[in-house]
Amino acid sequence: MDKHVIVEGVGGSRELLLGNEAAVRGALEAGIGVAASYPGTPSSEIGDVLSTIAGAAGVYFEYSANEKVALEVAAAAAACGVRSFTFMKHVGLNVAADSFMTTAYIGTKAGFVILTADDPSTHSSQNEQDNRYYARLAGVPLVEPSNPQEVKDFMVASFDISEQLGMPVLFRTTTRISHMRADVVFGDRRPAVAKGEFVKDAKAYVPVPANSLRMHVQLLARMDEARRLSETSGLTRVVDIGQQPTIGIVTAGSAFNYVMDALEQMGASARILKLGFTYPLPLDRIREFAGTVEQLLVVEELEPLMEQEIKADFLSHRIATPVLGKEDLQISRAHELNVDIVTKCLGRHFGIAVTDAAAATVKAWPSPLPLRPPVLCAGCPHRGTYMAVRRAIRELALPEPIFASDIGCYTLGISAPFSAADYLLSMGSSIGIAAGFDVAQDRRVFAFIGDSTFFHAGLSPLASAVHNKHRMVVTILDNRTTAMTGHQSNPSMLTGAAGEPAPAISIEAVVKAMGASFVRTINPYRVEDATAAYREAIQADGVAIIVAKQICSLLLDRAKRAKGVWQTFRVDAERCTGCLTCIHEAACPAMYVAQGHAVINQDLCDGCSVCSQVCPEHVIEVKR
Ligand code: SF4
Ligand code: SF4
Repeated sequence: MDKHVIVEGVGGSRELLLGNEAAVRGALEAGIGVAASYPGTPSSEIGDVLSTIAGAAGVYFEYSANEKVALEVAAAAAACGVRSFTFMKHVGLNVAADSFMTTAYIGTKAGFVILTADDPSTHSSQNEQDNRYYARLAGVPLVEPSNPQEVKDFMVASFDISEQLGMPVLFRTTTRISHMRADVVFGDRRPAVAKGEFVKDAKAYVPVPANSLRMHVQLLARMDEARRLSETSGLTRVVDIGQQPTIGIVTAGSAFNYVMDALEQMGASARILKLGFTYPLPLDRIREFAGTVEQLLVVEELEPLMEQEIKADFLSHRIATPVLGKEDLQISRAHELNVDIVTKCLGRHFGIAVTDAAAATVKAWPSPLPLRPPVLCAGCPHRGTYMAVRRAIRELALPEPIFASDIGCYTLGISAPFSAADYLLSMGSSIGIAAGFDVAQDRRVFAFIGDSTFFHAGLSPLASAVHNKHRMVVTILDNRTTAMTGHQSNPSMLTGAAGEPAPAISIEAVVKAMGASFVRTINPYRVEDATAAYREAIQADGVAIIVAKQICSLLLDRAKRAKGVWQTFRVDAERCTGCLTCIHEAACPAMYVAQGHAVINQDLCDGCSVCSQVCPEHVIEVKR
């Protein structure tokens, strides 16, 4: 799809959009002037679209160094009266949380929406935290759509809610909503206004204790108003399925879709209260709804948040309607739901033979998809880096070190034969983790961090490691892009979000200025040189830095294709001894074993050459 349709589509037109694309259209229809983000799946496509169309839409868009900075950019713009939008994956909100929490106190002048894209079942994340808690923790309204049309419509409504209440709105999607594709009917676009005016008012914007105490009281009053708004919100509706339903179901987000499919499969009747404005919960409305049914089921993904609040409310209001939730329906608190799970859980409760219904869903798939374990791409420069690390360790007969890893493609160094990821917490955590291992045990410590991750959250731990005289080898895997989320820009690059020229910050200059004891830049495609650099780094004191600089192989491929240059490598089967050193050291997905010798799949080989550099017989040859 041409992304410009999202800007140019007129009210009433219809387009097939991804949930994330619908979020952009909704933000444009709401008239945003400023947007900022740090890329993270499952929200990445929002930035991909905005980086392409922001100029045409009259919107300022940037990839900030991390989610906290992005939220701050949007918060300040909203304080100037400019409708502002920031979006991030669920764990990104942890990074932004410090400012997010206080934003709730300060409130907003213009509409300010913070989209959190949660990832139940951790499709591309380190945890499956339920960010609905953040709305409750900070005290901000929460809106949750169930499909791309709602993503677009609810986004527009969220900016209105934000302005009406004078507070930011948390907008929560999950992977299935972000990546669902469906028809979306456009509304009219409100003109983007990218400039406003900041009216100084320290009492309103500077939360020193005297002000923050008052702000907290104001926040509670705004949340009372938010509850009144939630009670009458058009984002919440009742859906009747079947004849004379006696069972009521309260649900929201993707769980609503599974409930609808499950009822259809079972041919069962139910009244559904489908919530869109999910915090504060419209408890009056839920009590009233409960009065129309004999029992109330709460179907929600991950934590039993709505269930607990509804049960507590019914108890205090002496509502007799039984409320059944996670334990009663045997719906797990872990992992995302799907149609089969919800069909089985509801089927048990409805007394309907669920195995047939569940099987029908499974039968709809012609065959299971083959398992594809995650692996570094053929030609990935990180392969050469990890090969050099392992070679240097072997050559120095170093006792097995501890490897602190970080968030990025290079986390795949966890796999054999590299086995270079022993501990991982979050973005930028590797250097701090390495410092802890340095003080609490005696083996040599390595940290691996990407270029984008380094600027996201690696600067402070590096300063701390140098200042506290830790000893470690830090590898900054600089593949000249933010690769894992789709090649977005970062501060080490010469281009900004839309590909426009931008000042690049030298990683080498930064780490030297921060006092690293040893700094060396390597080309990971030159295994011998890289190994020599690691031998030196391992023997150095203090914080030794290796900058492994080589462009992501996917980007390199594009450049090579554009120039019409291509090379692959092949094994001379006649001379190959079958020692398999190449496969054991490089573990490249383009290589396999046939008839006792190594073979390179010419369709997969990227021509990086690292396997040829470790073949003791020199029988891996270039084939242009
Ligand atoms: S390292 Fe060389 S000789 Fe050994 S299996 Fe690979 S191609 Fe053959
Ligand atoms: S087969 Fe060898 S040259 Fe080809 S991509 Fe893999 S490691 Fe690189």
